[in-house]
Amino acid sequence: MSNPAAGSKKVLMKDPQQILQHVFGFPDFRAPQDEIISTLVDGGDVLVLMPTGGGKSLCYQIPAIAREGVGVVISPLIALMQNQVDALKQLGVSATFLNSTLAFETVHRIEQSLRQGEVDLLYLAPERLVQPATLALLRELDISLFAIDEAHCVSQWGHDFRADYLHLNILATEFPSVPRIALTATADIRTRTEIVSRLSLDDARQFIVGFDRPNIRYRIALKTNPRQQLLQFLKNEHRNDAGIIYCLSRRKTEETATWLSQQGFEALPYHAGLDSETRAKNQARFLNEESIIIVATIAFGMGIDKPDVRFVAHLDLPKTVESYYQETGRAGRDGEAANAWLVYGLQDVIKLRQMMENSEGSDEHKRAEQHRLNAMLGLCEITSCRRHALLRYFDEDSPERCGNCDTCIDPVDTWDGTEAAQKALSAVFRTDQRFGVNHLIDVLQGSKTEKIRQFEHDKLSTFGIGQTLDINQWRSVFRQLVARGYLSVDLERYGALRLEQKCRPLLKGEQQIELRRDSGKKAVARQTKTPLPEDINVGLWEALRECRRLFAEAQGVPPYVIFHDKTLREMAEQMPQNTSEFGLLTGVGERKLEKYSEAFLAVIQEAL
Ligand code: ADP
Ligand code: ZN
Repeated sequence: MSNPAAGSKKVLMKDPQQILQHVFGFPDFRAPQDEIISTLVDGGDVLVLMPTGGGKSLCYQIPAIAREGVGVVISPLIALMQNQVDALKQLGVSATFLNSTLAFETVHRIEQSLRQGEVDLLYLAPERLVQPATLALLRELDISLFAIDEAHCVSQWGHDFRADYLHLNILATEFPSVPRIALTATADIRTRTEIVSRLSLDDARQFIVGFDRPNIRYRIALKTNPRQQLLQFLKNEHRNDAGIIYCLSRRKTEETATWLSQQGFEALPYHAGLDSETRAKNQARFLNEESIIIVATIAFGMGIDKPDVRFVAHLDLPKTVESYYQETGRAGRDGEAANAWLVYGLQDVIKLRQMMENSEGSDEHKRAEQHRLNAMLGLCEITSCRRHALLRYFDEDSPERCGNCDTCIDPVDTWDGTEAAQKALSAVFRTDQRFGVNHLIDVLQGSKTEKIRQFEHDKLSTFGIGQTLDINQWRSVFRQLVARGYLSVDLERYGALRLEQKCRPLLKGEQQIELRRDSGKKAVARQTKTPLPEDINVGLWEALRECRRLFAEAQGVPPYVIFHDKTLREMAEQMPQNTSEFGLLTGVGERKLEKYSEAFLAVIQEAL
């Protein structure tokens, strides 16, 4: 680990555009970064709502550099401060952190360099900030701004609530002349209002950036053989990539990780039941290496700030659209192409409904949960653009078709399922709403099973009226009827299907229904492009990655701290021949040009 006290000099530039280009190596601001930055530089307060990967960090890093004094960043996770500080140091920015993991002498040295005005950015956890000693230190310093990252942690509504955040109001009262910026990716109005009131940001300018993550490709397929589907997906598209696979149960994360390891992938489990040492070790490997797959329960992910996660896969259905969006949002923070991949089936619905039914909480709470699950199911079953539906769920307008989700790329066939649905519903009705899908399909197909004889279901008018569809087609019909709320699952009776009010007009012939056609090919979801362009020189790409890995290893930092995938991809595509061409690559500022161009240019020369 690099020493947080090892001082670089303060950056002397004052012009944000100049800092962007020369320090960070980016040609342009993304709107509205420039406006946010100039508001802060002029001493105003700001609230920023921006999706993950939107580019929030620059919004406080650049004004912290541009203004006199040190920028103080409040960030909830001690574990991640090191990475952020490492990344800034790579750019030649003087950054450091203070937390409980540091030795006394180190703290002393850091405090000294702070007093001497040598630091651009100081990272603190909220509990550290409110300690009297820290406040006393801060009063001695010239402070350029306060940045409150993950500001939604102040909200008691959210699941990330941190009691320490409630004390952050002290910044407004103790340091009234220092501009403050609060940042979050959680955008609902309730949370926003709470941030404003608890942090006294009533006069702050609000910047609300759309939710969309255009580089993430959303794909949802029918679960047929989940392990094989996953394996195909990984083999075809993510042979050497970092990714997260979410499962519902702890056991399944372990079994899946073991199985993937046998298939030649580096997969590690992560769940709350593992001892803290193993968890920390697995998380550290995921962050520091390039091709680790974490197989996790939802216990994993909060605050994971790894930019090059190339895919997030779900082997079980998330309970809500909110959690689906949050979990998939961990992919592609660097803006490069990434996949959000999910397989689901009727069993998932039954299992989740069961868990909700058995969960503690009021009936009202359970109804709300059901409602949210139904929205998730709706997203799975829609035949129109997934992104459009997702954004609409968050009250955001977007084009009807995004061109980067499975239903846009590979439009879903639909068929008039009215008659099939009527048959299915009447089979449920005639068997007194007491049987599960398999038996109902036997009735419809006129199978002569023991159970059919036992209940004399071969005497029913619905017996054998569904021979034109095969078993999979009937399963698809039932799944869609359940997902859309025409049928519900009776859990007291082992998954018996019951009619819901909603099916009346359908049964009476007053309504038509369009169903998705699940085809075998679509179930595997057509292969999409990997982040690499087709015509890239794979040998060169691997050699560049190796060069990056060696630098990372030598300095004890993750490879993306040296260069992001985007920079590496540009290198492989444009093959710069000299330092001035190298300096034009995205993410190459002056410091990185100086430190790395020679080695990487040599790798490119060799490939030519
Ligand atoms: P957030 O904190 O909002 O999740 P980050 O600040 O980590 O996002 O930025 C996400 C990615 O976008 C990073 O790789 C960052 O370097 C890159 N980025 C941010 N602003 C710009 C910009 N103006 N031009 C190019 N890349 C940018
Ligand atoms: Zn789409």
